[in-house]
Amino acid sequence: MRIKILDSLLADQIAAGEVIERPSSVVKELLENSIDAGATQIDIEIKNGGAQLIRIRDNGCGIHRDDLGLALVRHATSKISSLDDLSNIDTLGFRGEALASISSVSRLNIASKIFEDNSGWQLNSEGVNGQIKLKPAAHSAGTTIEVRDLFFNTPARRKFLRTEQTEFNHIEEMVRRIALSNFGVAINLKHNDKVVFSLLSSESLEQQNQRIAKICGKEFIENSIYIDTNNSGLHLRGWVGLPTFSRSQADMQYFYVNNRMIRDKSLNHAVRRAYRDVIFADRQPILVLYLSLDPSTLDVNVHPTKSEVRFSDGRLVHDFVFGSIYQALAGVKSEKQVTIPTPFSDNLIAAEVSNPILMPYGSNNKVKPTLSIIRNQMMVNQKMHDVVDQVVSDLSINDVNIDVLKKNEVGIKEEEQPYKIPNLIQQSIVVDETVLGEALAQLHGTYILAQNKHGLVLVDIHAAHERIIYERLKTAYAKEGIKIQRLLLPLTINLNVKEIRIIEEYSDLWQSLGLEIAVIGPDTVVVRGIPSLLQEINIEQLVKDILSDLIENSSSDQVNDRVNGILTSMACYGSVRANQQLTVPVMNALLRDIETTERSGQCGHGRPTWVQISVGELEKMFLRGK
Ligand code: ADP
Ligand code: MG
Repeated sequence: MRIKILDSLLADQIAAGEVIERPSSVVKELLENSIDAGATQIDIEIKNGGAQLIRIRDNGCGIHRDDLGLALVRHATSKISSLDDLSNIDTLGFRGEALASISSVSRLNIASKIFEDNSGWQLNSEGVNGQIKLKPAAHSAGTTIEVRDLFFNTPARRKFLRTEQTEFNHIEEMVRRIALSNFGVAINLKHNDKVVFSLLSSESLEQQNQRIAKICGKEFIENSIYIDTNNSGLHLRGWVGLPTFSRSQADMQYFYVNNRMIRDKSLNHAVRRAYRDVIFADRQPILVLYLSLDPSTLDVNVHPTKSEVRFSDGRLVHDFVFGSIYQALAGVKSEKQVTIPTPFSDNLIAAEVSNPILMPYGSNNKVKPTLSIIRNQMMVNQKMHDVVDQVVSDLSINDVNIDVLKKNEVGIKEEEQPYKIPNLIQQSIVVDETVLGEALAQLHGTYILAQNKHGLVLVDIHAAHERIIYERLKTAYAKEGIKIQRLLLPLTINLNVKEIRIIEEYSDLWQSLGLEIAVIGPDTVVVRGIPSLLQEINIEQLVKDILSDLIENSSSDQVNDRVNGILTSMACYGSVRANQQLTVPVMNALLRDIETTERSGQCGHGRPTWVQISVGELEKMFLRGK
């Protein structure tokens, strides 16, 4: 067999295999061209999922009449002309192969007019490169590219097209991605003549918020932090979702480097690390992030679809991105209120809280309210209302002593009255400016009810306490190691050979985790000291948990990866258990601790630690003011 040069159509079709995988790839390339042409308005029309028609019209710089034919030739581009240019790219395209690829696998028309010309020109290519017809066309400044019958001449590719809806979903996602990084461009998208969305140009941050809300959902804007940081020539800005507002898949993580949407393992890793402490296992945050850096420190010519890049200093970029997000999330303590979907829209939760048991306010919590006490109290309340109504409506008994009336009518002796309802009105005057306000009571042994100036605060006691202990353990661990408190009675634990080996292998780690532990037999260890931050813990359980942590993650060579997991379990063990009765001063102390703890908006497992229910929301629940 002798070697021969492929004809240019076949060469283009082979190249197209890499660039044009499906209709959405065409949309991506055409949109990128419009953006490179400086367009501020782009209209996209799709028919039949893109298989029948993709038409994109822009108001960009247009293509010179004499260049129209060239635009379809492979390796023809107006964007670079030398190797130097390649290392300083500020356009999305540069390879000069998109239009050549597309025209080799479809029927392509271009109509374009440059600003200086009087009339526009139009060109048709029928999937055959050599035969190009040019004729005048009515067109305002800008370019329209029409791609019909995609893959009509490459049946193998055509076979791989999925249903109309699936292909269109890919297109829509592609347009969203591009819209997220080109706020200045107004974009309209139509499918089968129906408007799918239209986005206005949005330059100001406020307008950008609106575009983000339109694309990622309104809740995302409400549940995200806007960041904007600079360091060592790197600039990162964008929106990072609160850990409590997560998804099961990483399908809403948009990353742009110098305005180019990319996938990058090391950036994904930076994100995962930044969220690791605060997000529930297996949950994925939502992010829209823009990284800008000197183009000469970036290689964009790594992949035919230009969706991957290489950083000249990957470590620096990774650490900068990690640090910026981590910092932002650390700020999610009490001043950023964690809003979760209002609990009372959810019937399930509403049913759970519809019959709360109030602990006596300010009492030492010795008396547990029984159901009959509560029923009595409800009866008292009802009767009091009735009485007062009667008094008010009947002016003739204006002078009757209401106190007497109450006692006689209700007929419940003073000493039987279980507790006084706290005087909330008076309370609200003394509520100071603390974020979480003053504790009122403990609900179901699990939650603190507190009152702040906005309304009601509900705190998950265990989750909040766990977060506080975790942060303290982490700080102590990072500084001089966690302090050990010696046990009066050392505890022996039986373990298997593998576990004994792990205990020996990591003896230094145990020590710095605040655990004094020694092997005293082939299958026995003795624990002589535990972290002083943890009181009344099940030591054996804790040791076994740490062991399984270590065994499970033995492949990871990052000690820190393991330690944080271990500290999370330790914090979980050391925190207040459900149903532990707390006094009001203890609850208030806990509230103050939450306020001053970093990342206290979530526990170590990423659940929220407290929620606010505003007076406004309460009023809605009770249909007040309607
Ligand atoms: P590349 O974008 O890599 O240069 P393409 O094949 O995508 O290669 O496009 C070839 C050339 O056609 C571009 O360099 C540009 O000059 C021109 N072009 C394509 N689309 C447009 C457009 N919408 N507006 C103006 N010029 C365009
Ligand atoms: Mg291009």
